[in-house]
Amino acid sequence: MTHETGTRTEKPFRILPALDERNRHFWTRGERGELTFLRCDACGYLIHPPVAFCPRCEGREVTPHAVSGRATVLTYTVNHQYWMPGPELPYVVAIVGIEEQDDVRLTTNIVECAVDEVEVGMPVEVVFEHHEDVWIPLFRSRGAS
Ligand SMILES: [Zn+2]
Repeated sequence: MTHETGTRTEKPFRILPALDERNRHFWTRGERGELTFLRCDACGYLIHPPVAFCPRCEGREVTPHAVSGRATVLTYTVNHQYWMPGPELPYVVAIVGIEEQDDVRLTTNIVECAVDEVEVGMPVEVVFEHHEDVWIPLFRSRGAS
């Protein structure tokens, strides 16, 4: 008999991103617990998805920058369908806006809580799920901490 209720003992299958010079920081700095985005050296704008220039001022100097990892749930849906290999059903697919810049949005999963506890406006924090050479940023509630 096992006593594993509530514990994520196995990581779900994930389709992993292809790493390149522009996005590698985003997918690997989770090893250090850091959520990073490219930031424009000239105006400080955070750029996501990563491109080689700043969409606000067209600056060409952009550098990976670690943010707090805090975010807010902007919208979400509960997936009950087995579309493709992934997390155990049901699970929450959410769009979160990061604290530092609301228009930097990530499509992610909300983990470590029941699906019916997730709500729009919920404060969350990043937690990483490690697969091979990739640390996938997921989010959990920070209401209780
Ligand atoms: Zn800029």
